[in-house]
Amino acid sequence: MNPHHLFAVLAVCATLVNGCSDKASGSNDRDGVICDPPEYSVTVDAENVIPSPGEIKELDGAVLQIHEGVYMVRGFSNTFLVTSDAGSIVIDTSISFTAGAHEQALRPYVVEPLRYVILTHNHPDHTGGVEAWRGDDANVEVLAQKEAIQFAHYQRRLDGIFRNRNSAQFSLLLNLPPLPFNPADAPVVNHGGTILSTIQFEKFFEFRLGNLTVQVVHTPGETPDHLSVWIPELRMAFPGDNFYISFPNMYTLRGTRHRPALDYVAALDTVLSWRPAVVAPSHGDPVYGEAAIQERVGGYRNAIAYVHDETVRGINAGKDVFTLMREVSLPPELQTVDTNEVYGRIDWSVRGIYGGYVGWFDGNVSNMTSTPPSAVHPEIVEMAGGVDAVAERAAELAEDGEYEHALHLADMALSVDPNHEMALGTRADSAAALRDESINLNTQGWYHAAVRDVEAKLGE
Ligand SMILES: [Zn+2]
Repeated sequence: MNPHHLFAVLAVCATLVNGCSDKASGSNDRDGVICDPPEYSVTVDAENVIPSPGEIKELDGAVLQIHEGVYMVRGFSNTFLVTSDAGSIVIDTSISFTAGAHEQALRPYVVEPLRYVILTHNHPDHTGGVEAWRGDDANVEVLAQKEAIQFAHYQRRLDGIFRNRNSAQFSLLLNLPPLPFNPADAPVVNHGGTILSTIQFEKFFEFRLGNLTVQVVHTPGETPDHLSVWIPELRMAFPGDNFYISFPNMYTLRGTRHRPALDYVAALDTVLSWRPAVVAPSHGDPVYGEAAIQERVGGYRNAIAYVHDETVRGINAGKDVFTLMREVSLPPELQTVDTNEVYGRIDWSVRGIYGGYVGWFDGNVSNMTSTPPSAVHPEIVEMAGGVDAVAERAAELAEDGEYEHALHLADMALSVDPNHEMALGTRADSAAALRDESINLNTQGWYHAAVRDVEAKLGE
């Protein structure tokens, strides 16, 4: 960076300390402004506010107009197009299978030039359309928070397990076939992630887009690189996946690092502090109205804080994780349309918080070594009268609707005879019943994959 440029950036940072609105009337430079370390103020009251339409308007095809000049296509993840009188930006690009269709539907509404593709976080259901939007146009910058680089490396480093587990988790929702782990001798790739962004910022990034100001803030939650977008002239916030169609998936069974509950709380506090008139999450539809947003997003935030605090209280009181998974539930006032368990689950979140804070050791010396409880399953099976007797009892439990117990007992039988037909059948029947009685999409996917695995084994 040449000294002149450095001075310009420092000057703008100083301006931001005193308020970004001073800058808003200034340049329309392409580069935006990165201020590290962060001393910024997010504009709350802009001049020339464009009133919220208060509702979605359906346009041609799949395109929805959600604000003046702001368009969306619904998908497994939404794609947003924000247009001004002097250019456009895209916020999130959906998943690869649908990203091209989203781009084609929205392209006619682009006000040229397209200046930025902003990725709220580096999950594939948000990044699948970067190529479709950017093509060969090197003038389109792809903006992400800088943790996206390490996060991409993490995803690549663990691609073998994530590929296999995603194929189970999304076996129903995305109709994924079973996908293999890596070969045992596959090389370890520690820093091989694909970096999609052309600009990364640390805490705050701001640029002008014609008549609009776009302010982008690092708000970790669902992922460490998560960002939120605020456009003061529209009084519109894009919270990405920190607020979506269900209680958050604070631990996903695909396997993930800790998604700290207090990060979600802080992220939502940031969004709420802007007092938006429209909040457009990347899954689900926009929420309109300042009061409704404070109530709904605030309620969601309070539900996360409640689950966190109850879990921490229990950890400190010496309660084990399974007890807390059963005990922690939302009080009636926090059970809302937004805190349903269609995608995330409270018991998994409790376990995620527990494990995130204190790791794997449960305080029991029996579990301190590499000898797991299953090491004694063969002995228990023998004492119980052998593998057939155990498999029969598992089947009885399943008949009585005790599916979770049936699965454990079938596992004991299968630890002695992995091909035991009755035990496998009970495993499949129990998993199918649990799949069918759950409203949770991830739960359904995992049980469905378990049924599929048994069927493959039995040659059905
Ligand atoms: Zn998502």
